[in-house]
Amino acid sequence: MRPGDRDEAILREMGLYPAWRLKGSKEPVCEEAAPDAAGASEMDWDAIRESIASCTACPLSRGRNKVVVGVGSEQADWLFVGEAPGAEEDLKGEPFVGQAGKLLDNMLAAIGLSRQNNVYIANTVKCRPPGNRNPEPVEMAACRPYLSRQIELVKPKLIVLLGRIAAQSVLDTDASISALRGKRLALGNIPVVVTYHPAYLLRNPVDKAKAWEDLCFAKTMMAQLS
Ligand code: URA
Repeated sequence: MRPGDRDEAILREMGLYPAWRLKGSKEPVCEEAAPDAAGASEMDWDAIRESIASCTACPLSRGRNKVVVGVGSEQADWLFVGEAPGAEEDLKGEPFVGQAGKLLDNMLAAIGLSRQNNVYIANTVKCRPPGNRNPEPVEMAACRPYLSRQIELVKPKLIVLLGRIAAQSVLDTDASISALRGKRLALGNIPVVVTYHPAYLLRNPVDKAKAWEDLCFAKTMMAQLS
């Protein structure tokens, strides 16, 4: 066995080769997207769904029941991005179908929207993290080409990021949610609004009033864009 072959074999066994490198080796960890997501920038919707369904770019793929690609209109003006599928989403293959999802549906209805109409909902990662933990930065990085391509295909007028994890990952920032809320931010030339995650609001209902302010802010912004 040549030097390096053992490392490569370990990474292959873990489903991580060739995108990730063992820590301590000369090359950086996760220097580029794994092959499954690497061609995402060229994919149409069918290709993206097929590629996500067979993706093994990060360890989350090993624990999933179903991938959770997204839901809603593929030509929506509004794109909502959450964190990661939970247990119910993993079983159904659809984002936000649990308790947090019911609250999200109510939040959408409060500003005249629904997941069936002019809204697309996706997550930073397409597979459920074990025990509903937060997705790791490397997992979100491995899945990012898919989210980026979904954004390119939907071409939303406005993006709403749900919670700190999605906001920090999508905007590539360490800023706190309180620093990000209430501002017109941007991803490329698409305006972005940050608000609380519905699961956080279920635990902290006192902050629902602030989320309502954020949604009104987003709605006013959308009216100015249209
Ligand atoms: N929480 C999320 O961030 N996304 C889901 O799809 C479900 C719960």
